[in-house]
Amino acid sequence: MPAAYKRFGKKKNRDYGNHDHLARARSVDYIVIHDTEGTYQGIPSLVRNPKYVSWHYTIRSRDGHVAQHVPTNDIAWHAGNWDVNTRSIGIEHEGYLAKGGAWYTEAMYRASARLVKYLAAKHDIPLNRAHILGHDNVPGTTPQTVAGMHEDPGPYWDWEHYFELMNKPFKAVKDGDSIIIRPSYASNRPRFTGCVTAKAAQACPAHGASTVWLHKSPSHTAPLVTDLGKHPGKPSTYSVYDHSARASTGQRYAVAARQGDWTAIWYLGQKAWFHNPASNPTAIAAKGPLVTPLSGEVKVYGRAYPEKSAYKSAAYQPLTPLKYKIGPGQTYTVGDTITGSYYAANAYSPARHVTTTGKARYHQIQLGHRVMFVMAKDVRLIG
Ligand SMILES: [Zn+2]
Repeated sequence: MPAAYKRFGKKKNRDYGNHDHLARARSVDYIVIHDTEGTYQGIPSLVRNPKYVSWHYTIRSRDGHVAQHVPTNDIAWHAGNWDVNTRSIGIEHEGYLAKGGAWYTEAMYRASARLVKYLAAKHDIPLNRAHILGHDNVPGTTPQTVAGMHEDPGPYWDWEHYFELMNKPFKAVKDGDSIIIRPSYASNRPRFTGCVTAKAAQACPAHGASTVWLHKSPSHTAPLVTDLGKHPGKPSTYSVYDHSARASTGQRYAVAARQGDWTAIWYLGQKAWFHNPASNPTAIAAKGPLVTPLSGEVKVYGRAYPEKSAYKSAAYQPLTPLKYKIGPGQTYTVGDTITGSYYAANAYSPARHVTTTGKARYHQIQLGHRVMFVMAKDVRLIG
């Protein structure tokens, strides 16, 4: 079921859609997991619309049928972040975030896991949660776009089972320096509200979930941590659509403190406490690189773009920091370290595309529910 690749307007090279052909081989760093918020029957007319967006594959709920729309070497427009689009493959899953995982069938998980495993091997993508992202883990690009970033596939997506199906289960290590969130999906039944849109305050039916709530202090009744990018000046909520105070299965975080049955991680510049009793743990010991500020507060970015002096023919993309900052003494896990680059498309003809690669190095960190980037020059790498 191929996606449209057409011109539609008066500007011959600028008015086109709904993806970008490439003339050279593309390097892929991420696979982004989405859900459609609609039924499979609606997919053909969406992917054939050159004025709409695009993604590489759709997986059907009832039988795990896989349809491909865009060649994996081409750039699909799916992540709401151009830097991530240029370096990712997008997979849509038929279903609805707020329906308690009812649409996320075993057939779908199996087909999707098989596809991701194949794509990861082909493109040399590590099978971990720093590279296999939910759309809800993709960073906003600028302070203006953070609040509008999508929340799919949401807390009912069973990341533990998904990675087991890829033969990459999340396992505890000895002598850990960090933790991986891993509640038991079936018995972990956090409260959510807003599964019925018209009744936003109503509690959702109890159901397994891949997420833990994060509080300002070690208590279930303490306020949730805040997200100054998504909810400036306002508290986080228990809405099923609001991930601003949640950590998700498979995500690795640095430990900030422990007290009784509670563990605190560094999260969006705060100590964030989650219930992690020894009798029924919701996290496991993990190991990997960490970063901490060299001095003072460190800026955080939603894109790993090159420094200004690197641009020769493409238009300069400003290095706009997000509202979040990392304070002295805080630590965050590193998922990858990359050189800033920018792929300029904005033209129907791939011959007009330009790649700009700089010298600036970035660490991809698990800042909150979403991954983000810090400049390597601003931090000290640990481990
Ligand atoms: Zn999405």
